[in-house]
Amino acid sequence: MPKLPPEVRIRSFDEVALGFNFEQAIDEAERCLNCKNKPCVAGCPVNIDIPEFIRLIKEQDPVAAAQVIKKTNALPAICGRVCPQSEQCEKACVLARKGQPVAIGALERFAADEEAMRSPLPDPPKPEHPELAKYCVAVVGSGPAGLTAASDLARMGYSVTIFEALHKTGGVLRYGIPEFRLPRNILDREIDYVKSLGVKILTNVPVGKAVGVTELLDEGFEAVFIGTGAGAPKFLGVPGENLSGVYSGNEWLTRINLMRAHESIYATPIRIPEKLCVIGAGNTAMDCARTALRLGTKEVTIVYRRSRSEMPARIEEVENAEEEGVKFMLLANPKRFVGNEQGAVKGIECVRMELGEPDESGRRRPVAIPGSEFFVECDGVIVAIGQDPNPLIRLTTPQLKTEPWGGIIVDPQTGMTSIPGVFAGGDVVTGEATVIAAMGAGKIAAAGIDKFIRRKHNLEV
Ligand code: FAD
Ligand code: SF4
Repeated sequence: MPKLPPEVRIRSFDEVALGFNFEQAIDEAERCLNCKNKPCVAGCPVNIDIPEFIRLIKEQDPVAAAQVIKKTNALPAICGRVCPQSEQCEKACVLARKGQPVAIGALERFAADEEAMRSPLPDPPKPEHPELAKYCVAVVGSGPAGLTAASDLARMGYSVTIFEALHKTGGVLRYGIPEFRLPRNILDREIDYVKSLGVKILTNVPVGKAVGVTELLDEGFEAVFIGTGAGAPKFLGVPGENLSGVYSGNEWLTRINLMRAHESIYATPIRIPEKLCVIGAGNTAMDCARTALRLGTKEVTIVYRRSRSEMPARIEEVENAEEEGVKFMLLANPKRFVGNEQGAVKGIECVRMELGEPDESGRRRPVAIPGSEFFVECDGVIVAIGQDPNPLIRLTTPQLKTEPWGGIIVDPQTGMTSIPGVFAGGDVVTGEATVIAAMGAGKIAAAGIDKFIRRKHNLEV
């Protein structure tokens, strides 16, 4: 896919991937073999009818293609940009065996963007069962899980209200993923589409504080969906982690993406280091590293305890980071952060690692090599090694069964929690995963909620 050249893109937050033009999209669509057993569809967590939307692009009707995608995915322009397609639909594509799968994600983005260009906001589909409008459902969190559960329920006919703790909607899509990967007009448009289905969104409402989960049931909501994500950063637990100049990935990105620290008219404080180390190699780490370069950091190094093939970030984002000048220090792990007399970080004592036997994640376990310690000089560190669910709802809803690490336990078939009528899905159940996995969980829970309400009111199931 065409991209902005690295020397241009590191000077702005403009979108890096430029997307297909019309001719490129048709050429790519023509590569699809329209396989009978549709392996790509099974590889998509929300089962988009991929061959059908590609056929419509081939027939030069991207708007109809976008409508096919939207039958099962309310956020196609987002997914086309951020899904790890190489691990999902494109991995299952028969042409992947020859190393060149159809660029399904890029075609999805093309269809959604073409539709956006031609019509500001398409007419929403009519609710399937308007008689269900008398039943209200509360959705907690406006990330991809909440938006998907809400849009599926609204399309069925339910009256849906989303309660969002922050002043802006979108969850990680807004406060985590930077604009150079997901432009905000794209995000706003897809959220507007969800609103156009009749979904009401209330911001600045932290559920568990402003109102309790079971209180929502008492107030007349038939069911509650919890899609509160995993926003509590994990730390390494090594000495020096509280030195000034050490950020969590979440804090760094929120200050920039949500609180606009890089724009002079905003008062959000941020210290831009000259020499930054980012610990971790997932999407968050890549986003932190690339954001820092755009803010003027001279040297950015990713420090990762495994090797390149175990990096959890999307392959494309690792390549983008490398093209932009981010360095990679692999098989290295921090032992402690070292500060100066003012309490500011001045470097990291690291240890070299080697890979041992596979661990429970299936990846080879990194093992420290004794005596291999070395020092890396830096004046800024971002720790981006993952996130756990925010504890607020867990602590204020004692009947809710959770895993020892904080994830909410659900019935995987329906998304229902230990409290009848309360459902959950997305990162708050699985721990940090992907946008599309959260959307898949939102869909399962929407179907579960529909069944639950129909049973409760003796409606036809
Ligand atoms: P979230 O997106 O976290 O949304 C949860 C929402 O709930 C938030 O808006 C939050 O404010 C709100 N909330 C929390 N508590 C409460 C409360 N008590 N009351 C009301 N509202 C509440 N995945 C990909 O597939 N591709 C990528 O490229 C990618 N890049 C990423 C980059 C970063 C920096 C991060 C952090 C994650 C990335 N991910 C990526 C992972 C992906 O974004 C998440 O898996 C996904 O957003 C999870 O969706 P969710 O709806 O479960 O939660
Ligand atoms: Fe087309 Fe690949 Fe899906 Fe086959 S598997 S239908 S070639 S996208």
